[in-house]
Amino acid sequence: MSYDVVVVGAGPVGSTAARYAALNGASVLLLEEHPSIGSPVGCTGLLSTRAIAECELKPSDEFVFNSVRGAFVHAPDGQCLPIDGKQTKAYVVSRKNFDRSLAVMAVEEGVELSLRTRAIGLEKGIHEAGTGEKKESPPIKLKILKNGRFETISASVVIGADGVKSRIASYTGLEKPARVLPGIQIEAPYTSVDSDFVELFPGSLAPGFFAWTVPIDEKVSRIGLALEPGLAFKNNQKESSSLFYLEKFLCSNPHVKARYSGGMLDFVVGGIPIGPPERTIADGVLLAGDAAGQAKPTSAGGVYTGAFAAKIAGKVAADAALEGDNSAQRLSEYDLLWRKGLGKELDIGMKIHDYMGRLEDRQLNDLIGSLNTPSIHKIITEYGDMDHPSILMRKLMFSGNSLRLMKAFGTFLKTLF
Ligand SMILES: Cc1cc2nc3c(=O)[nH]c(=O)nc-3n(C[C@H](O)[C@H](O)[C@H](O)COP(=O)(O)OP(=O)(O)OC[C@H]3O[C@@H](n4cnc5c(N)ncnc54)[C@H](O)[C@@H]3O)c2cc1C
Repeated sequence: MSYDVVVVGAGPVGSTAARYAALNGASVLLLEEHPSIGSPVGCTGLLSTRAIAECELKPSDEFVFNSVRGAFVHAPDGQCLPIDGKQTKAYVVSRKNFDRSLAVMAVEEGVELSLRTRAIGLEKGIHEAGTGEKKESPPIKLKILKNGRFETISASVVIGADGVKSRIASYTGLEKPARVLPGIQIEAPYTSVDSDFVELFPGSLAPGFFAWTVPIDEKVSRIGLALEPGLAFKNNQKESSSLFYLEKFLCSNPHVKARYSGGMLDFVVGGIPIGPPERTIADGVLLAGDAAGQAKPTSAGGVYTGAFAAKIAGKVAADAALEGDNSAQRLSEYDLLWRKGLGKELDIGMKIHDYMGRLEDRQLNDLIGSLNTPSIHKIITEYGDMDHPSILMRKLMFSGNSLRLMKAFGTFLKTLF
């Protein structure tokens, strides 16, 4: 079996990359180790309007549960900063149905989809780069386990869209993302204050990141958190697991405790990779999505950034395969283009992540208090963007609220740009 492009992993990134490779003329095989697309779910399913548009889908009842227009940011001392985007900013989706819609679109473009098929090894041909001779483009031999049987398939280019634990990255010797934040979440009965708003809880109850409630409707929310393991351990050296912090959040945060009715309808754990490695390509191989550490360090969202990169990956993989040059040098076009589109935002996001994650509760109380003024609310409403937080940071910096912001952020804002 031989294909121009084989995509490993039929998450949102794999299906999008496969579709774009097919749209650009390649024969494409899309592999998924599980027997069902979109399952198990490892996501809150909060997708910005831009993320859905980037996937070339329209919000539809097939996958949308709820729409949200803003957030209530809860400081550790209980004060609340309302951020009202005034219009729908994001949707709460069924990731299972969302992922299935993307897989259907890929198949409609001619992609061959193979479920219960796990990539278990990869052999690369040898390129003669640097010898001055004409470069060969030896195909990749991908070992798979399909329905319990071992097989080998041949591909000009393999796209590793196999998520945070990417085996394709390991087989290729490419580095892993800089950090993986453990995330945990339940879906549970929870009485929303307003189901048009998510709730965010930064501070020591989720060291290094934040906890959240994301309403599916007025009565049920996804309640979860992610954290920085090092900071969680420093915070509580006896118990630093995400489960410990989630239980504590549910039982001891007064706002949440008053609205959470107990029990759960669903349980999710997963890692959020932040900080892409230096290289996301090798001879015959590209990495995209979580496999390439493309999730946003500020929100843990990986669907928008992953879909953006997937489209480039699919096109570059198809072009390279059809040109007969699958060398790392040829594929570096992908690395250049996705970083051109996302690199700066991810870098700034990492600085914001590190700065916010290290603030003590007392500092967060001050910061959130300082931002809680009508003129700053107005700027946040106008420029707040969950996919591009740097836009708001830049606007805040030049907003004429400098004394207040100096108090809130110190010199941090100036170091961002
Ligand atoms: C708790 C939590 C909450 C999150 N909330 C959000 C959110 O609200 N919004 C958002 O945008 N992002 C969120 N994310 C991040 C988001 O889930 C990921 O960024 C996104 O799913 C990445 O897509 P992907 O296609 O790269 O990887 P995945 O969705 O992980 O898909 C990878 C696929 O590859 C398959 N696979 C793996 N190995 C193999 C193999 N060897 N052979 C064949 N198949 C293989 C897997 O089964 C899987 O289907 C969250 C993550 C977590 C952990």
